[in-house]
This record gives sequence, structure tokens and C-alpha cells, in this order.
Amino acid sequence: MNLEKLPLPDCAERDWARRAITILEGDGRRSADTHLLAPVFEGLEGISIYLKDESTHPTGSLKHRLARSLVLYGICNGHIRQGTTLVEASSGSTAVSEAYFARLLRLPFIAVMPRSTSRQKIGEIERFGGRCHFVDSPGEVYAAAERVATETGGHYLDQFTFAERATDWRGNNNIAESIFEQMQAEENPVPEWVVMSAGTGGTSATLGRYIRYRNLPTQLCVADVECSAFYDCYRTGDRDTTCAEPSRIEGIGRPRVEPSFVPSVIDHMIRVPDAASIAAMRVLSDRIFRRVGGSTGTNFFATLSIAARMMAAGQEGSIVTLVCDSGARYTDTYYDDGWLNARGLDIAPWIEPIETFLARGDASVLWP
Ligand SMILES: *Cc1c(COP(=O)(O)O)cnc(C)c1O
Repeated sequence: MNLEKLPLPDCAERDWARRAITILEGDGRRSADTHLLAPVFEGLEGISIYLKDESTHPTGSLKHRLARSLVLYGICNGHIRQGTTLVEASSGSTAVSEAYFARLLRLPFIAVMPRSTSRQKIGEIERFGGRCHFVDSPGEVYAAAERVATETGGHYLDQFTFAERATDWRGNNNIAESIFEQMQAEENPVPEWVVMSAGTGGTSATLGRYIRYRNLPTQLCVADVECSAFYDCYRTGDRDTTCAEPSRIEGIGRPRVEPSFVPSVIDHMIRVPDAASIAAMRVLSDRIFRRVGGSTGTNFFATLSIAARMMAAGQEGSIVTLVCDSGARYTDTYYDDGWLNARGLDIAPWIEPIETFLARGDASVLWP
């Protein structure tokens, strides 16, 4: 028998991957954990609301965690190598964070996103050296991203498929572990509820799995928006549900049920009217002295709905939700009354009842 004497492979490829992992680790080490805010709302007696402020990541949103995980997953799977073009389908935030990591690793990055994406987000992607490829409707991003990846010989990061598995759900400082650790010295350290909206569905999947894994009594509520497939899928179990109208709340609400959406770990879902999301966003921004984004308004409104029901049932305890990104990205949109009027979003009828509930605990005007 003749043994083939192939030369041993050289290590250039693995050397690049090892340097890349060190760079990602460096990003993690340079960052502190995000704050868990605990604003006091006088009217909500017996209920403590906490907000995990993900807007303080270097790239401004919770997508910093996801982008880091997706890039790490791609490198560890051998799909991302020296010179690989990274491609993503994104409504904005994920692309901003991925553009940041692509630049750290000196890799080209192309974001495929709807033309309606906010000007600020486009500017942020381009400042990190990323390129934007626009499509007309949110439903077109998936096929277009696959096409761009094939054409460039690149790697499609595919957040909507891989978000739920690129994150280590057992811990490793994922968002759930961080929240539950930060809660430990609170009066009610184990929250009754955690409330989160869904874009990829990845964060809610991580939260729901972690709650079960750690054997906690906490329940998970997912908040959806008017134009989105998630809520109906949750009610009917039909994963083929679609929604023709694009979501008006950036970052959340999807035209199809994304593969990363895991309904089996969700205990309850609430569909929040878009005007209520934006009203809640404005009220919360005033209360915590920092502008938050639209999806944070969705989270906050659903949190208040849970709080109202707990109070009506005589329950006490804590509820945790997320500040997903900062309002700085939406000065031209959700914080512009003219923009809202042009889209028929009347937030006035929601503002007063939300304020009344927070100040006096009277939920009857919000949920008669
Ligand atoms: C992605 C995103 C969400 C939803 O998080 P997922 O983990 O993708 O479900 C909420 N708000 C903003 C601003 C986002 O970018």
C-alpha cells in the first residue's frame, strides 16, 4: 500500500481565525455590562419595573450582542475567513452592529435593507465602512441578501435564522443571565414577568430558554406590533402566517414568522397598537431622562398592561423589560409630530392615560 505523502497544510487560515477571535474577545473585555435601570413610578404600588438598557452598547442597541455572536458563530464554523464579505438582511440595527464588527476584523460588509430604513442608521452603517443595498419592501430582503452573498462569494450572516442558536442560551453572560444576576439584591429578585418584543425572536428565545433552564417561576410575555406575523402565529400555531403590511415600529414586527421565533417558550403575547407604542416611548423618555426607540415603547406599553393586571389581581413583584435602542436614531421619525401626523399615527389619546396610570395607578382609562 502506498501512503500518499501530502504536505501538511499551512496554518495561515487558522492564524487569521485565531486573531479574529482575540479581536472579538477584546471588544467584550473593553465593554462594561449594560445598566439595569429602576425608575420609580409613584402610581404603581407594589410593582417594580426594571429596564435593561441595551442602548449603551458601543453600537447603540441590543444587536451588539447578536452581531458579536453571529460573527463568532461564522468564524467557529469556518464560514468566515480572511477576506470573506459579510452580508446581512436587516432593518437597520443589526447591520449597524455587524458593520462595526466587520470593520474590527477588516472584512467587507454589505447590508440589504428596506429603502424605508432611517437615515441615521444608514449613516451609521456607512461610517463603519459598510455598504447598503436597498430593496423596496421588507419581504424582499431575504432573497436579495442570499443573492448578494452568492454574487460576492460572501457569507450571509442570516440573523433571522441563526439568532436563536448563535447565542449561548445556558449563560456565558447572555442577556438573560446578566438580567437575573443584576436583580439579585432587589426586593423581589425573581421577576414575575419578563417582557420583550420580537424582531428575529432571538432575545425572547434566549430569555424563555434561560428561565426554564434555571427553573425559575418567571413568565415571559412577548409584545408584538400591528403589522407582524408573530402574534397570529402564536395564537394559531401556524408558522406560515404572513403579514402584507410592513411594520411601522423599526426593529420589530416581521412580514413572516422568522425561523428564530420560538413560540413554545413564550407564556403570553400582547399586540400593542402602534400609536400606543410611540406614546409609551415618549412618556418613558420623559421619565428616565433619555430618549428611547419605538420598540422600547412597545415593550413599555406591554409591561404596563401586565402591571395593571397584576395590580387588579392584588399581586406584587417585579417586571423586567428592555431598552432596545436609543431615540437618537428616530429624531426625524417617532420624535417628529409632523412625521407621525403624515402617517395617521395619533398618539395624543394614549399619552394622558399612560401618564395617569404611572402617576396614580388608575388603569381604567387605559384598559376600560
Ligand atoms: C432587533 C430589535 C428588537 C428585537 O430583538 P430580537 O432579539 O431580534 O427579537 C427590538 N428592538 C430593536 C431596536 C431591535 O433592533
